[in-house]
Amino acid sequence: MQPSVPRYSRHMLLKVIGEEGQEKIENSRVLVAGLGALGSMAALLLARAGVGFLRIVDQDAPELHNLHRQFLYDEADVESGLSKAEAAELHLQAANSSVKIDAVNEAIGPENVDALCSDVDLVVDALDNIRTRYFINDLILSRGIPYVFGGAVETIGNIMTIIPGKTPCLRCLWPDPEAVDNHPRASAVGVLSSAAATVASLQVTEALKILVGRENDILSGLLVLDVWRSCFHVAPISIDPECICRKLRQ
Ligand SMILES: [Zn+2]
Repeated sequence: MQPSVPRYSRHMLLKVIGEEGQEKIENSRVLVAGLGALGSMAALLLARAGVGFLRIVDQDAPELHNLHRQFLYDEADVESGLSKAEAAELHLQAANSSVKIDAVNEAIGPENVDALCSDVDLVVDALDNIRTRYFINDLILSRGIPYVFGGAVETIGNIMTIIPGKTPCLRCLWPDPEAVDNHPRASAVGVLSSAAATVASLQVTEALKILVGRENDILSGLLVLDVWRSCFHVAPISIDPECICRKLRQ
């Protein structure tokens, strides 16, 4: 029996999505790189939004100290010994059985980044280290795949949307990986769960804009937010004339 109200009616009613946009979402393929605080929230939002194909990648297993901010997992998952990718697949499939999930229990590196990224329409970056982010940044530039970067530590978050050939890339933002390695990490200084959830929500919003074909609406620059101080600021970012992405604009 058909439900009286379609599953995605509240999306389809939105002027910025509509029936046509929802159909695009359902026909899209997205990679969520990393299944920690950002990735588990992003994957949940994307699955519930009806994204047709979700590839989820992480090599870790859920631990008790993850649960305050990694909303895809519960205490049973910590006990089960399942990997994050396996546990996430079960929870995402329970939330929306129509989404095809490809759960990959691997670290992302130079040997698999091409295979993981090449057949998707968009990448959501939910990683926690700059080296792996560079692998993805460089791959998506060569393949022309949009990429939504996000990070959260303490009460602060960053979001940037990268459209190859149109916007600055991650190397324009951070040309020196050594400097980024010295940024504070959540494992040392903590992270507020609502800061991570806010960043993931904004990343998914950027992703949906791209998937429904509203690239003109995307965030321009680096969004820096501090949820504790209720502060949001967009910092302009320019293409680095020395960056590898510059040649895509010529
Ligand atoms: Zn660049």
